[in-house]
Amino acid sequence: MTIDQFNFAGKKAIVRVDFNVPLNEEGKITDDTRIRGALPTLKKILADGGSLIIMSHMGKPKGKVNAKYSLSQIVDAVSAALGVPVQFAPDCAKASEQAAALKPGEVLLLENLRFYPEEEGKPVGIEKEDPAYEEAKKEMKARQKEFAKTLASYADCYVNDAFGTAHRKHASTAVIADYFDADHKMLGYLMEKEVQAVDNVLSNIKRPFTAIMGGSKVSTKIGIIENLMDKVDNLILCGGMTYTFAKALGGKIGMSICEDDKLDLALDIIAKAKAKGVNLVLGSDCVAADAFSNDANTMVCPANDVPDGWEGLDAGPETRKAFADAIKGAKTILWNGPAGVFEFDNFTAGSRAIADAIAEATANGAFSLIGGGDSVACINKFGMADKVSYISTGGGALLEAIEGKVLPGIAAIKGE
Ligand code: AMP
Repeated sequence: MTIDQFNFAGKKAIVRVDFNVPLNEEGKITDDTRIRGALPTLKKILADGGSLIIMSHMGKPKGKVNAKYSLSQIVDAVSAALGVPVQFAPDCAKASEQAAALKPGEVLLLENLRFYPEEEGKPVGIEKEDPAYEEAKKEMKARQKEFAKTLASYADCYVNDAFGTAHRKHASTAVIADYFDADHKMLGYLMEKEVQAVDNVLSNIKRPFTAIMGGSKVSTKIGIIENLMDKVDNLILCGGMTYTFAKALGGKIGMSICEDDKLDLALDIIAKAKAKGVNLVLGSDCVAADAFSNDANTMVCPANDVPDGWEGLDAGPETRKAFADAIKGAKTILWNGPAGVFEFDNFTAGSRAIADAIAEATANGAFSLIGGGDSVACINKFGMADKVSYISTGGGALLEAIEGKVLPGIAAIKGE
């Protein structure tokens, strides 16, 4: 079932959203992007004449009630965003009466799901090494099913619009779907957009396809690099991992960040790219600094000849041009991870060159997907969010999807 096909008139919908919004000391929301992201789905249900039961987690209360993470703090903001009063259920597992009393057009927000350990389904107070752990895990899984069943009992249909938690098999993100048949469970609009965006870079690829992987380490990106190797035409590897490659190839990297236990892996990636005909673009020069600081002295030097006492913190001019050349002609672009320590204003040039080239390619008709944490922060820092095709809302979920893993939150609905 898709959300557009379903008529919510007279129906109660339980919707999993990601309202894990940042709050300041006074409990005021500092960034409401996630609330705005769910509005199309929530408004469609109300416009059809349905009633809404909204559920989310906030923070990591680890299965215990904690006022700091109470969703009561966001009731007014959700009301304002939806333009209707929002009722609050102070105990998400004891909301049957409030849910049953909902009339079309009415909205109930449940308290933080993670106040119950059943939401995540991990046994509490017992270490994995404990001989009794397996038994405790089994018991918790049974309790998780009961918890999911209770949530499901509030509504006629289930909508999952929380992409940020789609890679988790939690009660509200996946297990609950077992209590609805295929005609009464669906993805929300935000989820549909995310799934479509991932599909555009994994299956529905327009060529040439350039992927840009940056960030600090090769080790955290290896699953993605390997999955992309079969799909891309150009693969730019940048950021801190530049120096693991430079060292693996016999270069001198000074104090640059390097994973010494990943040198063989770097050589393996180079060999695979060659065997598969992928144009691998690595940094040739860099902006080196004499300290890990925005105010450090800098110089441009070859990425494989960084003097002692210096470290490469950004891509050099020749590298920036090579990156831009591999991006500008592309028709599909994926960017994850900055090309330098972009948090320091003096080391943003590499990431900015990438962002500029992506904006140019997008203006020329390319599909560009930016996601997975810091590259989103980069695009926002440069004020270029409206110059790319899609910015993913899911950090870990997006990365797992690009690795080619099946996301439990999506599988639970699509039955894959
Ligand atoms: P990741 O979480 O692996 O995507 O890495 C993001 C982080 O990588 C950012 O905080 C960057 O500052 C950092 N980074 C990028 N380039 C470098 C570099 N050359 N040296 C050290 N850190 C870097």
